[in-house]
Order: sequence, then structure tokens, then C-alpha cells
Amino acid sequence: MIEIGKRDIQRLAKHFGITYDQAEARYTVFRKAEKVRALRKQNDPNFGKICKLFDTIKRQCTVYAARPTVCKSYPDGKRCGYYDFLKFERSHQNEPDYVATTQHHL
Ligand code: SF4
Repeated sequence: MIEIGKRDIQRLAKHFGITYDQAEARYTVFRKAEKVRALRKQNDPNFGKICKLFDTIKRQCTVYAARPTVCKSYPDGKRCGYYDFLKFERSHQNEPDYVATTQHHL
């Protein structure tokens, strides 16, 4: 799950030239169980599900300059840090269906 805040949504809205409400509806979803807003996901042949803003052909982020704050916390590079994280977890878990999360543990 990629948690997203108001500034992140504002940045995406500006990036796509749409309103805040449009960006929120199009790219995010409120997850009742965790009580947080997160980026929507799409189907992915490698991972089952991955961020909706990920280009599943080129295997990279489509909004890199406007990516959410949580994505910026991953080590730098021109690729999606979350994708790299999934790859890393997958190779270490050796479980093809393993899906990592970015939840914070209190
Ligand atoms: S860096 Fe990855 S997780 Fe973040 S918005 Fe881009 S594709 Fe999505």
C-alpha cells in the first residue's frame, strides 16, 4: 500500500492538469480497514497488483517528478522505488505471490 496525503494529491492534480477532486477519485482510494488514503493499484503480470501510476511495459513510474512523498523516501533512481522494493522482497522471500506493504509499525 502506498499511503498518500493531501499534498501528494495536489501534486498529482497539477501534474495531470486536473482538479484535486479528480486526482483523488482517479488515482487514490480510501482504505477503511487502515483508515488511510492510498494510491490505486492495477493488475501486473509480475506482481499481481502494483501502483496505478506504474508503467507496466517500461517498468517505471509515470509521474516520477510528481511522485508521492512516500515514494521519494526510497533510494534514489529513475525507477519506482516501490517496484524495486517488491523485487527485493520477492527475491528474498522466494515466494511468487508475496506482496509487500509499506505500512508503518508503531
Ligand atoms: S514511484 Fe512507484 S509507487 Fe510511487 S507513484 Fe511512481 S509508480 Fe507509484
